[in-house]
Amino acid sequence: MSAELEGLRALVTGGASGIGLATARLLATRGAEVAVLDLDPRGVEMPLLGFAADVSDDASVRAAVASAASALGGLDILVNNAGIGAAGTVEDNDDEQWQRVMDVNVLGIVRTTRAALPHLRGSDHAAIVNMCSIAATAGLPQRALYSASKGAVLSLTLAMAADHVREGIRVNCVNPGTVDTPWVGRLLGAAEDPAAERAALQARQPHGRLVLPDEVAAAVAYLAGPLAGSTTGTALAVDGGMGGLRLRPA
Ligand code: NAD
Repeated sequence: MSAELEGLRALVTGGASGIGLATARLLATRGAEVAVLDLDPRGVEMPLLGFAADVSDDASVRAAVASAASALGGLDILVNNAGIGAAGTVEDNDDEQWQRVMDVNVLGIVRTTRAALPHLRGSDHAAIVNMCSIAATAGLPQRALYSASKGAVLSLTLAMAADHVREGIRVNCVNPGTVDTPWVGRLLGAAEDPAAERAALQARQPHGRLVLPDEVAAAVAYLAGPLAGSTTGTALAVDGGMGGLRLRPA
């Protein structure tokens, strides 16, 4: 298992923090050579290679993907993980906020994939994993914009899987519940009562706790690896049952 990804070369966007960092580290532990693309990759430690880029800026994405592919000698795995959040109903976010979140969460995947595809076509084990969210399908309150962006990521994943299956490129996504990352730390930090807010978030997960970044990373590593060679066009939930279970109130 530990060398399952030996010989494979991976690029993880948003890989300097949270789920992306856990994923980059796990892919490396399993034998892959890993590059991270992030707004600020300065904290990324060896053996991970860091490249600065903003997924909402096409020129910077193209330059960073080209540099990463050149440093790694090609690309086999692309993890489209970079994303930003937004709270509120449709009345709470203005057009500028909608455009910004869609630009990063949806078009960011489009730009990075476009830049990476020519390199992935040179691989015998090409795989793309998009970071979606349970918000794509769960109907969460106060998350209209974020949910719409992740709904688009889910549809995009299916369309990309269909478009590239014949050329041997698999495309899947992971749908986490609420994951204990710096992002959620920032949300809690801004809450009136962070401890009460954390308890509420935990209670929302049927398994009674937040999801761990390493649990999401493990799902990504599976979907990216050769053991998932017959899996494409799927969404793997890592959510403690939040999306799929219909539980009676406790
Ligand atoms: P995080 O804030 O801890 O890390 C996000 C990383 O993405 C940061 O390193 C940041 O610099 C980078 N990033 C942000 N915008 C970028 C841009 N424009 N270009 C390049 N890099 C950029 O967040 P996280 O919680 O690890 O979330 C990662 C992904 O997981 C996101 O797509 C998010 O929607 C998804 N997700 C998170 C949760 C959760 O509860 N934390 C749940 C479901 C899905």
